[in-house]
Amino acid sequence: MAKTAARKISSAGNQSFTPYKPKKGEEYMSEAQLDHFRSILNGWKKDLMAEVDRTVDHMKDEAANFPDPADRATQEEEFSLELRTRDRERKLIKKIDDTMGLINNGEYGYCETCGVEIGLRRMEARPTATQCIDCKSLDEIKEKQTRGK
Ligand SMILES: [Zn+2]
Repeated sequence: MAKTAARKISSAGNQSFTPYKPKKGEEYMSEAQLDHFRSILNGWKKDLMAEVDRTVDHMKDEAANFPDPADRATQEEEFSLELRTRDRERKLIKKIDDTMGLINNGEYGYCETCGVEIGLRRMEARPTATQCIDCKSLDEIKEKQTRGK
């Protein structure tokens, strides 16, 4: 029970891909590199959309099949978890779409805060990253401080 709800969404889904090996002297975010990331993002989005469909089907199948109120309560809890999971998946899909936009207008792979190259390996680990590690960590520290006040 509730296996689907407990499923963890990793940063790039369950996809496997071959890490990109830039040719000697190849510029950062060359057309070939952008294609590499497009295919990672597309595959990830497809997985997520299949997940969303599966969740909806699963909920339709199981809805209102329990006459016992205790069973129904458990089921409702399970459903609300699934809904939250689906919500997260939807947000991720939106983020992937936004990222595709960055690829198309040539802003992909650069830190939106300081403008440095985020780097191939980090982009492969987090294909939707919009900040370099330094800016990201700094933001997280600031966020913690703001919340502490
Ligand atoms: Zn930065």
